[in-house]
Amino acid sequence: MKKWLTSVVVAIVAIGLLAGCNSEDTTTEDLDEINVTATTGQVADVVKNVGGDKVKVESLMGPGVDPHLYQASQGDIKKLDEADIIFYNGLHLEGKMDTIFQKMSKDKPTVAVGDSVPEEMLLGADDSDAHDPHIWFDIQAWIVVVDAVEQELSKLSPDHKELFKENATNYKKELEELDEYAKKQIQTIPDESRVLVTAHDAFKYFGHAYGLEVMGLQGLSTDSDYGLRDVQVLVDTLVDRKIKAVFVESSISENSISAVVEGAQKQNHDVVIGGELFSDAMGKDGTEEGTYLGMFKHNVDTIVGSLK
Ligand SMILES: [Zn+2]
Repeated sequence: MKKWLTSVVVAIVAIGLLAGCNSEDTTTEDLDEINVTATTGQVADVVKNVGGDKVKVESLMGPGVDPHLYQASQGDIKKLDEADIIFYNGLHLEGKMDTIFQKMSKDKPTVAVGDSVPEEMLLGADDSDAHDPHIWFDIQAWIVVVDAVEQELSKLSPDHKELFKENATNYKKELEELDEYAKKQIQTIPDESRVLVTAHDAFKYFGHAYGLEVMGLQGLSTDSDYGLRDVQVLVDTLVDRKIKAVFVESSISENSISAVVEGAQKQNHDVVIGGELFSDAMGKDGTEEGTYLGMFKHNVDTIVGSLK
């Protein structure tokens, strides 16, 4: 009797252990929900669109945040630590976080989406052999990023491979439509007015894709200082070419571009601030501009509305 009871207890314990092992095995081999930490809103947006309800995405940089100067907080490190996978823009956009990404890459997939874009699609930086990191303003390059995100998520959760593929295909269709829309709209601006003046050089890919000349007061990174001479050069260009609007960026203080407007006024050339563009940060969550598609369309409409 006693012997019989013991063997039942042993069997129950064994079944319990096996069950425990089994459930643990499935979670490590194939994640049902992937915890993702992304840096910029743009990168987070791609992951949300491809991953759908199979991903939980934390984005470190909210509306109005400048990624060039961004330093990770303790809370951010925790979010990066807890993630199953990290997605960031790369190409040194998040210049102050490079060491953190290096460290994290030893423990988990840490993916710079910019590395998936082929060299021939990348634009160079003026003063070095580095590349311009603002790749999300070339929709065709961003479509490459969508594919890269799809592949990475599928590696982590092969069970949902088909779903990720379908989501990516649908999203790429929307991106292609937006690309067509932007092309058509920008063409309505007269040739001589197709000049986009902003606070920093975030729009080179945009200009390259849609045939606009682009000028920024600061360089590719807001980490570089601009001086009175830069302001003067830009003012002279505005006056010479009778450019009537300049644009502020949501992630950069208005002071820099206001100095340009004032400088032009001193030379009796009226320049207006044509509106606010989303450059390195997106709009508030829950608004149209809080999505990639919405913020891109906002930029196109704002630019066309002021320069046309
Ligand atoms: Zn930038």
